[in-house]
Amino acid sequence: MREPVTAFVGLGANLGDAQQALRDALAGLARIPQTVVVRSSRMYRSAPVDAGGPDYLNAVAQVETRLTAPQLLAQLQSLEQAAGRERPYRNAPRTLDLDLLLFGAARIESATLTVPHPRMRERAFVLLPLRELAPERVSAEDLAAVAHQRIAALPAAS
Ligand code: ATP
Ligand code: CA
Ligand code: CA
Repeated sequence: MREPVTAFVGLGANLGDAQQALRDALAGLARIPQTVVVRSSRMYRSAPVDAGGPDYLNAVAQVETRLTAPQLLAQLQSLEQAAGRERPYRNAPRTLDLDLLLFGAARIESATLTVPHPRMRERAFVLLPLRELAPERVSAEDLAAVAHQRIAALPAAS
């Protein structure tokens, strides 16, 4: 049997009830076979990057999985579909976006999957929540490079 791998999933939504979409997505992650959600970050509100539309809500989840990276991606995509994800054009507003950020120490470059996620280091909405869960995987230089991006953690749910 495969050893479990620690992976990080980036969650984003900016259409409809984005906060509920992220909560539902976290519950969905917990139902992926051979996978457990270890922890999730706070939620953050961020301005769209290279895109229009409402502000985004973002978070990162740490999972442990015995799936392969392509199997995990397929599960993430089926959760996006279940949330009504449409892709009318690049960077369009979305009901739910689930990106595979890191998969253990794996480096993957296939036609459909690149890990680490190729744009994660450019994005405060990935780096800030990831830092909560895995500070060793986010450098001070990374954070400095995105310091100009507008983002704020949501107050903890009461
Ligand atoms: P970005 O990738 O810049 O965050 P996006 O999330 O809006 O943009 P999508 O339309 O959701 O892009 O995904 C386009 C394709 O990216 C997917 O069909 C998938 O095959 C591919 N992809 C490659 N690497 C990854 C990854 N690490 N996580 C998720 N999708 C990936
Ligand atoms: Ca994305
Ligand atoms: Ca995506």
